[in-house]
Amino acid sequence: MQKPIILIVEDEDHIARVVKSSLEDAGYEVYRAPGLAEGRIEAATRSPQLIILDLGLPDGDGTDLIRTVRSYSNAPVIILSARSGDEAKVEALDLGADDFIAKPFSMTELLARVRAHLRRATTISTTNPSTQFSFGDVTCDLAHGIVTKNASEVHLTKLEFRLLSVLIAGRGRVLTHRQLLADVWGAAYVEHPHYLRLYMARLRQKLEDNPAAPKYFMTETGIGYRLKA
Ligand code: CA
Repeated sequence: MQKPIILIVEDEDHIARVVKSSLEDAGYEVYRAPGLAEGRIEAATRSPQLIILDLGLPDGDGTDLIRTVRSYSNAPVIILSARSGDEAKVEALDLGADDFIAKPFSMTELLARVRAHLRRATTISTTNPSTQFSFGDVTCDLAHGIVTKNASEVHLTKLEFRLLSVLIAGRGRVLTHRQLLADVWGAAYVEHPHYLRLYMARLRQKLEDNPAAPKYFMTETGIGYRLKA
């Protein structure tokens, strides 16, 4: 089997070196670009299955690369950045990045995220739009609009079901408040995060064992939500 190809766009040599060798030890084929211009070339020519991207690059901003890559590829993009503000994260995720890891980071955590995103990407490309999805004791039949917990049917309103479907489609990824509001309620509602809070609370109430300590419908503080896959 061919090794999955990963591209690291990172200007700091010691970080790039550690990440590259850890990923190679884990069985990936890894390329590194030290800046935006090389990153663009490598992304277009190596066809990476996943990209790890630093935002602060010497010749520009990493977010520009997300824009470029998204015009031709769905490869997961994990942002690695020293910028800790929520705004930077939200901007990157809104542009189509899949995940955000703040520096300093643990290599174990990065490897776990890489595995999760590659698994998700493979599932999506090898199965037809899957209509069955389950987590814990919850099963969702999206085509028929049927959700069960512990084998008994759970009634969801139309909007609750829509939110659940959007979370399932983006499972494993951080979805920003704006993305979720736009996808579920429409573009006119992106400034109304309280709708989202209310409906997330309802989904947790209906589908989590303990809604106060959710295991699947995770909050990414200041950013959005993630359905743990
Ligand atoms: Ca940097």
